[in-house]
Amino acid sequence: MSTDGYRPARQHDTPEYWSAKMIAEQLRGRNIRDERVLAAFAKAPRHLFCPSASLSEAYADHPVEIGCGQTISQPYMVAWMLEAARLRPTDRVLEIGTGSGYQAALLAQLVARVFSVERIPELLAEARERLARLDLENVTLREGDGSAGWLEHAPFDAIFYTAAAPEVPQPVKRQLAIGGRLLAPVGLRHHQNLLRIERTGEVTYHEKELGGCVFVPLRGEFGWND
Ligand code: SAM
Repeated sequence: MSTDGYRPARQHDTPEYWSAKMIAEQLRGRNIRDERVLAAFAKAPRHLFCPSASLSEAYADHPVEIGCGQTISQPYMVAWMLEAARLRPTDRVLEIGTGSGYQAALLAQLVARVFSVERIPELLAEARERLARLDLENVTLREGDGSAGWLEHAPFDAIFYTAAAPEVPQPVKRQLAIGGRLLAPVGLRHHQNLLRIERTGEVTYHEKELGGCVFVPLRGEFGWND
C-alpha cells in the first residue's frame, strides 16, 4: 500500500493500521468471506481516493464526500457488491459510476478488464490520475452517461451500478454475457434494494433481492431526472 503524502500523527495513525481495522471490523466482522475480495481491499489505499478526509475518516464505516455532491461508497457496501458478483480472474467487468476510482481499483485486482463510466468530468479526471499512479493498466475509463451501459465493449461477465436507478435499465441486461451478473441498487430515490440479476440464457434472467441500501441517484437516460 502506498503511503504517499501521509505523515502519521501518532504511532497507530497510518494507512496500514486503519485499513487493517476496516477489514477486520467492517468486512470480516460482517461476514465478508471472499479472500480475494479481502486481499484487494488490503492492497487498495482508500485514503488516496478521498484525499480531503482525515485518515480515520477515509477508512470509516460510512460513505465519504469526494466533491461535486458525490461520495465514495461505504467500504462494506463495496465489499458486499464485489462478493455477491462472484468475480473470476478472467472476467470483463463494467462499472457505471467511477466516482473516486476506488471500486475500479479493487476490480482491477480481481478481474482481467475493467470498463468504467463517469458523467462528471472533474471526478473522472481525478480518478484517471489515481489509477495511473497505482499502475492499474487494465482499467478503461469513459466520460458520459453510462446509464445505458457501454455497448461497444459488451458482453460483460459482471456489471455494477454504483448509483441508484428507479428500475433496471433493460438495454443493460442484454449487455451481460450468459452466466453474467448485474448488481444494482434499485428502488426509491432515498432507499433501494440491492439486486443481483444473473443472465441464465438468451432471454432468461434470475433476479434476487440481496437487501436494503442507500446510494446517490443515477442520472441520465435511465436515471432520475430532477
Ligand atoms: N464507485 C465509486 C467509487 O468507488 O468512488 C462511487 C460512485 S458514487 C456512489 C456514484 C457515481 O455515479 C457518482 O460519481 C456519479 O456522478 C455517478 N453517476 C451517476 N449517474 C451516472 C451516469 N448516468 N453515468 C455515469 N456515472 C453516473
